[in-house]
Amino acid sequence: MSRVAVVGAGIVGLAAAHALRARGADVTLCEPGPPGGGQSAGRSRIFRHAHDDPRLVALVARSRSLWREWEHEFGVELVSRDGAVAIGDGVEDKLRTLEPFDGIPVRRLDPGELHDRLPLLAGYEGPAMLDVDGGAIRTVAAVGALVSRLEGTMLREHVISVGRRTSGGVEVRTGTTARTFDHVVLCAGRGTAALARGAGIDVPVALGAHVRLTFATRATPARGGTAAAGLPTFQDGSGTFGETGAYGAPDPDGRHFSVGLSADTDAAPDGALADPSELAALADRTVDYVRRALPGLEPAPVDHVHCWVTRLPWGDDGVGIWSADGITALAGHNLFKQAPVLGEALAGTALTGTVPQDLRPGQRLGRAAG
Ligand SMILES: Cc1cc2nc3c(=O)[nH]c(=O)nc-3n(C[C@H](O)[C@H](O)[C@H](O)COP(=O)(O)OP(=O)(O)OC[C@H]3O[C@@H](n4cnc5c(N)ncnc54)[C@H](O)[C@@H]3O)c2cc1C
Repeated sequence: MSRVAVVGAGIVGLAAAHALRARGADVTLCEPGPPGGGQSAGRSRIFRHAHDDPRLVALVARSRSLWREWEHEFGVELVSRDGAVAIGDGVEDKLRTLEPFDGIPVRRLDPGELHDRLPLLAGYEGPAMLDVDGGAIRTVAAVGALVSRLEGTMLREHVISVGRRTSGGVEVRTGTTARTFDHVVLCAGRGTAALARGAGIDVPVALGAHVRLTFATRATPARGGTAAAGLPTFQDGSGTFGETGAYGAPDPDGRHFSVGLSADTDAAPDGALADPSELAALADRTVDYVRRALPGLEPAPVDHVHCWVTRLPWGDDGVGIWSADGITALAGHNLFKQAPVLGEALAGTALTGTVPQDLRPGQRLGRAAG
């Protein structure tokens, strides 16, 4: 039986550990904090199919079917059935990229249907689309279900170093342990690049800090008082409301909607923010955006998620897997929706030593258009 350590119990590490167990590996999952407490924190994420890179669209479509398999296996809804709405001039490009994919139902929305589906939104007459099989990922349910399946695998320790032993295997050193494994998978979010570098693997991530705010919905008579129930997720690239990139997703409680801007504060590799006041400024801009674009929300935020984000040089949706001599590292951004398929890819890499073609860094999967 292959002995594999997975470092980091965010959604990707949990998915990798789950896939490894399903393939019969002896898994140890190292995580000092609450599972899902890093970049995977918060109560929702957007599942959308539209991406600039058609190869990423194909990967995400495969992930969508694996989310369904997880729902079946865990007996709980993990992606809402209310779709993903996008507005702005980019809609036509998105539709063109998705058109060749038979299994991804998408369509344009006229202003009337847009308002029916997203009554939170202020008046808007421009291009809009619905990704029918997109929706809000139930993050807490997903993390909880995976953790419950991984009982007995958790080592509640911070990993200090990962290194190959001349006598064979890969050693993982934590605060109080030193153990050797056949393979080690690094899914440590902002901790991955440092651990990988110590093992001679250069993962070129840039670090940033992001803020997302949660707002209460105003009750609308049309929705019987449960204003966020049945709402789609939302991406706004229109610029109509003073921001060229904004996103939102309903919380599972049916009463809250979380909103963020497609903007971060740059950080040095050690986590020092270039301008610490910028996070507060981003939060203020988000509130201002909500006042203009989403009058269906109470404009005082009730909750904040502050999170590190890790980006590859080739785009906001870039993702890659680096692997050499028993050590595999994953990096990228906007990975929640891909977690099931990345878990499979990492498990396969750990057990065979071969990274799936599209996920090799030279492929620059998820590269931005242009
Ligand atoms: C506000 C926000 C909104 C987002 N929206 C979307 C979205 O709509 N759709 C989407 O698909 N994605 C979205 N993303 C991105 C997505 O959430 C992340 O890409 C994903 O959660 C990353 O998961 P992960 O498991 O790779 O990393 P993480 O969740 O960060 O997990 C890494 C784990 O490793 C642990 N760790 C770190 N160092 C060590 C160490 N040395 N030893 C042991 N453990 C260690 C950490 O404690 C952490 O738990 C969003 C991200 C943010 C922050």
